[in-house]
Amino acid sequence: MKLADTTWPDVGDHLDDDPVALVPLGSTEQHGPHLPEGTDHFIAEAFARAACDRTDAIVTPTIPIGMSRHHRQFPGTLSASPAAFRAYVESITRSIADQGIRRVVYVNAHGGNVDHLREVGHTLRNDEVCYAIEWMWNESIPDLIEEAFENPGPHGGPKETALIQHLHPDLVHEDRIDWARDEGLVEVEASVGRVHGARTFYDSIDNTASGVLGDQTQASAEIGERLFEAASDELVALVEWLADQPFDDLVPHEFVRGRDASDR
Ligand SMILES: [Zn+2]
Repeated sequence: MKLADTTWPDVGDHLDDDPVALVPLGSTEQHGPHLPEGTDHFIAEAFARAACDRTDAIVTPTIPIGMSRHHRQFPGTLSASPAAFRAYVESITRSIADQGIRRVVYVNAHGGNVDHLREVGHTLRNDEVCYAIEWMWNESIPDLIEEAFENPGPHGGPKETALIQHLHPDLVHEDRIDWARDEGLVEVEASVGRVHGARTFYDSIDNTASGVLGDQTQASAEIGERLFEAASDELVALVEWLADQPFDDLVPHEFVRGRDASDR
């Protein structure tokens, strides 16, 4: 069920079935000269809607702006502050829980959101408000990504290029893909931006002039479709697993007490 398309009596009926809620989250930020600023939230929304069509989950409207301060030198990048983003997501999730929903998946397509969503989910679980977990599409299909691309790159690389070629081909500037690669960072080694073990960079422009990483020329709409279908299957399986978990098994464990060290 798509919440925004539905009336309150019908939402109310569906809540009786104890559905999992899917909250799509992305970013509005530069994705190189070839991909649109909405890349991440377009991807998140597509996965959430695909999973919604195949399960009893209820999908909320998409949260389109996230944590993107590290792309701020490029035109068009919008970002929340960390505190505002966490507070906003937490308050929306509490509002979802007020409806009686106790299982939430943040369908996320932006790496910069991950730590914040984990933090919010941890707080909500500690408070036993609900069980909210973060899911990132590419983390669900690591073997397929490794097989598909020699240089996947964490941002604006062939992974995201292929998905947008599949989902929104009219928004991809195919004639700028060489530009993205040639002025970007193709080989992302563990040593990039590190000095004696310390990470010395903060902004993407510190490492890439085009704003993106990886080799975009390895992408195609066909690969994008394969990735989309495979990761959608994983999200559907996650929703079904979560729907089956008794809520008592999802709340934090009891405090450890009564262990006698003399037994050891
Ligand atoms: Zn992205």
